[in-house]
Amino acid sequence: MATKWNDIAYYQVPTDDSFRLKPQNPDFTGEIDGKKQAAELLQGGVEQLAELQDVLYADGRWGVLVVLQAIDAAGKDSTIKHVMSGVNPQGVKVSSFKKPSSDEMSHNWLWRYSKEVPARGEIGIFNRSYYEDVLVVKVHDLASKQGLHESLTGKKLFSHRYEDINAYEKHLTRNGILVLKFFLHISADEQRKRFLRRLERPEKNWKFSLSDLEERRYWDDYQDAFESMMRNTSTDHAPWYCVPMNNKWFGRLVVTKTIIERLKALGLSYPQLNEAQKQALEKGREMLA
Ligand code: AMP
Ligand code: MG
Repeated sequence: MATKWNDIAYYQVPTDDSFRLKPQNPDFTGEIDGKKQAAELLQGGVEQLAELQDVLYADGRWGVLVVLQAIDAAGKDSTIKHVMSGVNPQGVKVSSFKKPSSDEMSHNWLWRYSKEVPARGEIGIFNRSYYEDVLVVKVHDLASKQGLHESLTGKKLFSHRYEDINAYEKHLTRNGILVLKFFLHISADEQRKRFLRRLERPEKNWKFSLSDLEERRYWDDYQDAFESMMRNTSTDHAPWYCVPMNNKWFGRLVVTKTIIERLKALGLSYPQLNEAQKQALEKGREMLA
């Protein structure tokens, strides 16, 4: 039987060592019949998400951290734009992480991310995240240039970082922060097409950067780093979702659906009023009458 597109377990990266990136199909669109159907479904999802966020805020006991990682041009920005288009901006904060400043680099590497973790009641979105420290830092061997003593940057560096991440995400989940991690998966050919579009379309020119083409030369190293990242940090408390993204309209739908399902599973509810609060309502009614 064909996989139902909306079975979110299908995209979930297993927590054992079995995950491989190569066999994952970035063209997958399940039984969705093209862009138009996807747009309708997305609209419904966006509305549902808005309702859930309202309860999340009122409930106040849970927060949500959405982590987006991907190669350049996979669609992190546009996913955020579409998926969050219906939610109340007061309850959502997007944090984008660039090359760390020298101040940030002089701290423990989780420091700059920690400060941006959402409070309970909020949704925080990380456009790139602490995972850059096992991705770009690994691919370009940057750790040795970040002021660490050489005894701390040996062979175990990244296995230690995976350990730290798993412990950190456990810490977050134990504090009521749901951690949802999405890897947006595109093929090398699709990235090429998207870079070409950035060159050809005036409204996309600003997104083009020659350094992205430099990075593209490290494609295989990045794929290895992504695979290793997911194999080592997909856990029961914070699994990765590997999202087919060659068709952006499909990937966005998967991200939306996953956030909705995971929020629903929290069993959110509006706070119940106690006796005193109910009396206050009654009094308020009398006073306004
Ligand atoms: P963009 O998201 O296109 O604005 O690019 C941000 C750039 O910052 C990317 O090239 C990332 O690889 C880079 N970056 C983000 N976090 C780190 C980090 N921890 N160390 C080094 N580079 C980073
Ligand atoms: Mg970029």
